[in-house]
Amino acid sequence: MTAAATVVAAPLALADRKLPDLVAAEAAAAALLAALGVDDSGPLEKTPARMARALEELLTPRTFDMTTFPNDEGYRQLVIERGIPFRSLCEHHLLPFTGRACVAYLPGEKILGLSKLARVVEMFACRPQVQERLTQQVADWLHAQLLPQGVGVVLVAEHLCMTLRGARAEGATTVTSALHGVLLEDHRARQEFFTLAGITS
Ligand code: ZN
Repeated sequence: MTAAATVVAAPLALADRKLPDLVAAEAAAAALLAALGVDDSGPLEKTPARMARALEELLTPRTFDMTTFPNDEGYRQLVIERGIPFRSLCEHHLLPFTGRACVAYLPGEKILGLSKLARVVEMFACRPQVQERLTQQVADWLHAQLLPQGVGVVLVAEHLCMTLRGARAEGATTVTSALHGVLLEDHRARQEFFTLAGITS
């Protein structure tokens, strides 16, 4: 085994974020409930604190080291990780959207531990998001860090702001994709990726 290289250490996603203030968040949650006419005494006494901690958890990715290895054996086929569960918060309503990600890359000189693909999704999902940007950020980041021949990302998600309220389109899912390199430019490689991702066109 050739020496690994740690190209970057997370938490990247926290670099530009202030540390959460749970005391202030709890007070704000209590004020929100009061403004909505919800009595937070009795059984709801601890609800503002729980709301603050739950949102803080949803907005904080776990840290990890992004370790790459030289592609010494010259593997030149798609590496694809399917069914990666993720949850995020839509930036318009701060309601969850949840789904599965499929992340693939066509290796260049570097390869990546498989679990890291899931960690990259989490890193960008744990912030107020829109699905389109989340998909693109995962693809862009892998493209920049791994310098692969190609990258493909597909996200399929259900948005509670759309299924529980508003349009109330229960069961509707949103599919987004982002591609780089060979997967963007070569239609056969793109087709192979979408087929393996379970998306048929
Ligand atoms: Zn929304």
